[in-house]
Amino acid sequence: MNIGQEILKALKEEITEVEYRRYIKQLTYDSKKSTSDFAIFYAPNQLVANWIKSKFSSKMEHLFELKTDIKVSVKITLKNSVDKKVSQTKEKTKSHTHSLLNPSHTFDNFMVGGSNQFAYAAVKSVSEKAGEVYNPLFIYGGVGLGKTHLMQSAGNVFQNQGKSVIYTTVEQFLNAFVRHVRNKTMDRFQEKYRKCDVLLIDDIQFLSNKEGIQEEFFHTFEALKGAGKQIILTADKHPKKIGGLEKRLQSRFEWGLVADIQPPELETKIAIIENKCEINKVKLTKDIINYIATVIDSNVREIEGILSKLHAYSQLMHVDIDLKFTKTVLKDQLQENRANLTLDIITKSVAKDLNIKPSEICSKGRSKNLVYARRISIYICRELTQNTMPQLAKYFGMKDHTAISHTLKKINELLENDEDFKVKIEELTNKITSVS
Ligand code: ADP
Ligand code: MG
Repeated sequence: MNIGQEILKALKEEITEVEYRRYIKQLTYDSKKSTSDFAIFYAPNQLVANWIKSKFSSKMEHLFELKTDIKVSVKITLKNSVDKKVSQTKEKTKSHTHSLLNPSHTFDNFMVGGSNQFAYAAVKSVSEKAGEVYNPLFIYGGVGLGKTHLMQSAGNVFQNQGKSVIYTTVEQFLNAFVRHVRNKTMDRFQEKYRKCDVLLIDDIQFLSNKEGIQEEFFHTFEALKGAGKQIILTADKHPKKIGGLEKRLQSRFEWGLVADIQPPELETKIAIIENKCEINKVKLTKDIINYIATVIDSNVREIEGILSKLHAYSQLMHVDIDLKFTKTVLKDQLQENRANLTLDIITKSVAKDLNIKPSEICSKGRSKNLVYARRISIYICRELTQNTMPQLAKYFGMKDHTAISHTLKKINELLENDEDFKVKIEELTNKITSVS
């Protein structure tokens, strides 16, 4: 058994039988093309690939690390897309393995509406004049609104021009940094990141409170910017709101252009669904498309999940997708999202977002940011799970249910009077319900 198969086997133990049969079983591991940076798995189609990517890839990365002690990035892709990439890489020796961009993230596949028009125009113009118009370009907005897609669209344009493009998340950048420090090969790390033509860094908010990597990133930024190389960054919020960032970095993030993406309005959602159906050869009638667009409020990734589920169900059960069937599947999906949530998942997500330890949320600590994090966690747990007040009291280390009830009262006051608090709660609730 190769390592890829071992990972799939281990994953099988952690997920439901249905999930395994429907999705994971369809994956194949490519031991030849996988490297110490990337573990490459093939899915039979893009929908299954996207679904596995959003639901299971971080679990798979975790399993890899447990088994091999190496932090790899798991790529779920289609067979011919890697073949194409690899042959391109051979042709253009400048291309980097790190730039494994999703080939379907293109401008053509990106539906533009009022909500994302500004960001789209900004990325598009950068893609036409690398390093010359907005540098850096900083895109921010909520989960699943198309930041990565847009950023990679520019990446694909650059890559097709033969430029060396690095696409990385902050997490991968940090892992690579740690590995090179450990192996005493920092010169190679710096050579790689400071000499590329285009650097795309996703989810920059995770730099928050990580001083070492901020310092390294600062120098990378300076080197690239100084050489007129294009930098594109994304985050879930405006640079000013990220917090825990060195002043010099924060101000540099605003040097070029900061563009936001808002949740798509109904027409844009409809256009997105139509586009996804076309790409994935799923046939849906107008009324079904309208229904899905109305029910799913904003997260586009969730729309893809629904389509993939509809498609899979209809194939398995040999039925056509009609409105009634769609309603059942959607109801299922929404309930499933909630049912899977546990107190642990919620506190972990809150802790991660606010850069504290989950255990601190449940501790007796009274510092301002702990109280803040605890309030948010309690509120979301109460909203999204079936736990009773005594259960919550026990979990959060509070005296009894009256303590929880006081806290909830306080939170409701804040929700009415403190706009920032309200936005934070909404943002985290969205994040939590969409990743579950
Ligand atoms: P983010 O990085 O903002 O969390 P992604 O870029 O990963 O979001 O987008 C989530 C999914 O939704 C992707 O598969 C992407 O292709 C799709 N998507 C988001 N916005 C659009 C859009 N305007 N048109 C087409 N697809 C979109
Ligand atoms: Mg993203």
